[in-house]
Amino acid sequence: MPSILSQKTIGFIGAGNMAQAMIQALRHNSGISADQILAADPGEHQRNLVASKFQIRSVTDNAEVFDKSDIVILAVKPQQLPSVIHELTQDPRYTENRSRKLIISIAAGIPLPTLEHHLTASLTAHAKELIVPIRIMPNTPALVGCGMSGLSRGPGVRDEDMELAMTMAGSMGKVCVLPETLMDALTALSGSGPAYLFLLAEAMIQAGTTLGISNDDALTLTVQTLKGAIALMENGGADTATLRQRVTSPGGTTAAALAILEEGGFTDLVTRAITAARDRSRELS
Ligand code: NAD
Repeated sequence: MPSILSQKTIGFIGAGNMAQAMIQALRHNSGISADQILAADPGEHQRNLVASKFQIRSVTDNAEVFDKSDIVILAVKPQQLPSVIHELTQDPRYTENRSRKLIISIAAGIPLPTLEHHLTASLTAHAKELIVPIRIMPNTPALVGCGMSGLSRGPGVRDEDMELAMTMAGSMGKVCVLPETLMDALTALSGSGPAYLFLLAEAMIQAGTTLGISNDDALTLTVQTLKGAIALMENGGADTATLRQRVTSPGGTTAAALAILEEGGFTDLVTRAITAARDRSRELS
């Protein structure tokens, strides 16, 4: 079945890690051809990399990408976004735009109203209607098609715009639509989330080696255990507390480990960590 993206040109402003994860997902999972994608980046290395990796055209001119795309992904760092938008919105190809464009920001901590304000401040009322800002917060497992993206819908976004944005985000994995007010919490949970599991994995591997297991074996044991636990969470037919209880015989080995984790305030620590990430996301906005 042809994808609703099949007639669309998708432009990336910024061709770094997340842009590459998205391009990879679009190419492999949504049947988007290389000539439908265009990317702009000031870095020669990045431009050459995406051009050779994905056979797409890469340029230095952000306004060219805007001009030639139906969907524009803003994939620069949050600190760079205001100046990138300022420069873009001064360009005649932006102010004289005559076609409806979805502008998707993936920048952490930049709320939709701020994005919308920056994108439309210099435009006439009619031109404003052609700019449709949407925010998507992906995560790095998008690189392997296992991403989790949050999507918030701004005012003026039509159902067909949402469908396009959902298809874009869906090519990277799962999508959760949340109100803008919860995007900082989602950023803290799923955007930064992979790092929490990597830290847990590192700690498990280190514990294994401390107990005499080789590093390679500890890595295999940890990775497969995490995979297996997640497969049980997805397909085990029980909630996580039940699954945990099934591994935990009273007075047994797991109970001994969990007692130490509880003594150290594990659950509270995780809540505090994710709350700190949420607060940092708010500070960045
Ligand atoms: P990155 O540094 O890998 O990529 C940013 C790219 O923007 C670089 O290639 C840089 O050369 C380019 N750039 C700088 N100035 C530019 C300009 N004026 N015009 C065009 N391009 C310019 O960063 P990243 O990790 O890909 O993050 C990109 C965005 O994705 C960020 O806003 C971040 O918040 C968001 N994000 C990242 C993750 C993650 O896990 N990495 C997760 C979710 C969201």
